[in-house]
Amino acid sequence: ANLSQQVSGIDQLGEWDKKYYLHPTTVPKTFSDNGPKIIFTEGNGIRVKDAKGDTYIDGVSMLWNVNLGHGQKELADAAYEQMTTLAYGSSFYGYSNEPAIRLAEKVVSIAPGDLSAIYFTSGGSESNDTAFKLARFYWHLKGRKGKKKIISITNSYHGATVAAGTATGIDAFHNFAGSRDIDILNAKAHLTNCELGDKSDPNYEGCIRDTIEKEGSEAIAAVIMEPVQGAGGIHIAPDGYLKAVKDLCEENDILFIMDEVICGFGRTGKIFGSDNWDIVPDLMSVAKGITSGYSQLGGVLMSEEIRNTLVQYDQILGHGFTYSGHPTACAVGLKNLEIIERDKIVENAKNMEKELKKGFKYLEDNHANVAKSRALGLISAFELQADRDADLPFDKSIRAAAIVAEECYKRKLILRTADFEEGKNIVAIAPPLITKKEDVEEIINIIDDAVTAFENKLE
Ligand code: PLP
Repeated sequence: ANLSQQVSGIDQLGEWDKKYYLHPTTVPKTFSDNGPKIIFTEGNGIRVKDAKGDTYIDGVSMLWNVNLGHGQKELADAAYEQMTTLAYGSSFYGYSNEPAIRLAEKVVSIAPGDLSAIYFTSGGSESNDTAFKLARFYWHLKGRKGKKKIISITNSYHGATVAAGTATGIDAFHNFAGSRDIDILNAKAHLTNCELGDKSDPNYEGCIRDTIEKEGSEAIAAVIMEPVQGAGGIHIAPDGYLKAVKDLCEENDILFIMDEVICGFGRTGKIFGSDNWDIVPDLMSVAKGITSGYSQLGGVLMSEEIRNTLVQYDQILGHGFTYSGHPTACAVGLKNLEIIERDKIVENAKNMEKELKKGFKYLEDNHANVAKSRALGLISAFELQADRDADLPFDKSIRAAAIVAEECYKRKLILRTADFEEGKNIVAIAPPLITKKEDVEEIINIIDDAVTAFENKLE
């Protein structure tokens, strides 16, 4: 009786889900036909349970954010303590609260170079919108009011608000709504064709420099990019690339915004993605990993020069979110950073990169269709290709990445695909930063079986 009650409970939830809940970044037609794939109910470590009682490995840390893994009681305790002391306090109009102050100090202390203050938001899109506004406002205060445009690059993901969504260099996120921020330009520039433009590169389509020349540097406020592109396909900036962009920005009096929403707080095996190449941006957006997803929080770090310019402004800075500097979110953030340091989480991410690379080598040695694997810390991917020696893609109709991910899912491993780009079949793997060697081996074994199942379907 208990079981049937439980099953009818799940059915009911599925029906309500289809009927009452319009989901983000989901195919509405498929969802309203099929309902939810999984209703998550519990999480522990790198694993999550669903309403049917099945357990899955969370191979992408949900949305690359649950960095400390699931069921971290210390984070819950920090939230409980703060909520029962002061759940919420405004940061507007000169008010403040202790966790926000302490977290600001902590984040600045671990940030690279002269990044010296933070503006809190409630997530990544808000952080990028804020970074754009602060960049424009900085130039306004410097008397260079024409510097308003923001340049982003191909395959970038910066969020879903009007400004961050316009900056996102993936068409699917533009198709949804016609409106754009007209001061944001998507440059034809790939992380992989080195700026500074090796124009002999067969993939060369254009570069940031072309866009600056076309628009004139006096129109450009900032360039934004991720150190490792996440949603756009796990593209890792090649050595020298970010430095070249930073130099280009400096040459042209353009601010460099690093979107560290995924990379920040250990994902790449360094505290910040920028640290892999010793880059200090002018503005840095953070979110996700700042609380490991246990609370909604983001922020924008700014250089000393920007901070010192902004603090001279003697009228109201008309920008802010109700949850900017939310005490409970900031208390969770503080505890999260304490655990990251105490448990050497960043070092673990770096060590697991080696294990992942070993696993990828095994997959490439055993499957002719597995290609182009890459990893930086615990953000990684491999691709499926019809002929990797000839660099030939699978036909779109084969849905290679989707099938492999579905086969993993059948074997209780949740992964994610990135197949926005024509001819690319990318499977992303980014488990929580607490992942151990045995977990990586289990993940690779499941992928091995899943790719074999895919190959069998091809025959
Ligand atoms: N920037 C990057 C690099 C991201 O990956 C994301 C989300 O995936 C965002 C910004 C947007 O963050 P949010 O979804 O918290 O608004």
